[in-house]
Amino acid sequence: MKIQIITLFPDMFPGVFNASMLWKAQDRKLVEISYIDLRQFGHGPRKQVDDTPYGGGDGMLLKVDPLVEAIELAKKNDPTAVVILPTPRGKTYKQSDSKRLAAAQNGLIFVCGRYEGYDERVTNWVDEQFSIGNYVLTGGELPTMVIADSVIRLIPGVLGGENSVEFESFQQDDNNIEFPQYTRPEEFRGLKVPDVLLSGHHAEIEKWRIQESSKMSEK
Ligand code: SAM
Repeated sequence: MKIQIITLFPDMFPGVFNASMLWKAQDRKLVEISYIDLRQFGHGPRKQVDDTPYGGGDGMLLKVDPLVEAIELAKKNDPTAVVILPTPRGKTYKQSDSKRLAAAQNGLIFVCGRYEGYDERVTNWVDEQFSIGNYVLTGGELPTMVIADSVIRLIPGVLGGENSVEFESFQQDDNNIEFPQYTRPEEFRGLKVPDVLLSGHHAEIEKWRIQESSKMSEK
């Protein structure tokens, strides 16, 4: 899967994408991540990519022309890619979206907003708008990392067999939560691992896990 990220701040990404499973995914050529620096599409000697909003108001908006030219370049690289705009006004991003995007196997093009946002007309070049929650971040870079991470880890071969995602939180549906888990030691500062997990009784363990999972999902 090709992932192209249109951003003014490409340096924000390598720390996240070049570690652990996301690094392995790239090393194994399961995913290829590249950056398109929006600044290169800026106009004039200062390579301006932002301007003041019509009608007045604080802050600057990313201009539509550099954004669209950058999207067009990304589309030329990967014509079937899905263009994603992280934005507080998008639909709330869920695990069902990450499953759908990973299963489709199309490339992804992320468009990172900044400042007060972007000229609304860019949405005509966008396929999906996602919010990662009801709070406002400084830019679209962190939401892009969140969404890309959640999709990449679902690409077959990224996590390996021992890390099956089948029983994880939100995999069965967007509300389902995984059961609690424990590892050694059996007792830590008076806190004991539930007896059933030490019993070796697989049917009982399974029953306990289903019960705990449904208790957590109700919260
Ligand atoms: N003026 C905008 C508003 O009130 O909705 C907020 C702009 S925000 C400071 C700058 C950019 O960060 C947004 O255009 C968007 O790309 C990104 N962003 C901020 N919060 C986000 C969120 N919760 N989900 C997705 N993207 C977000």
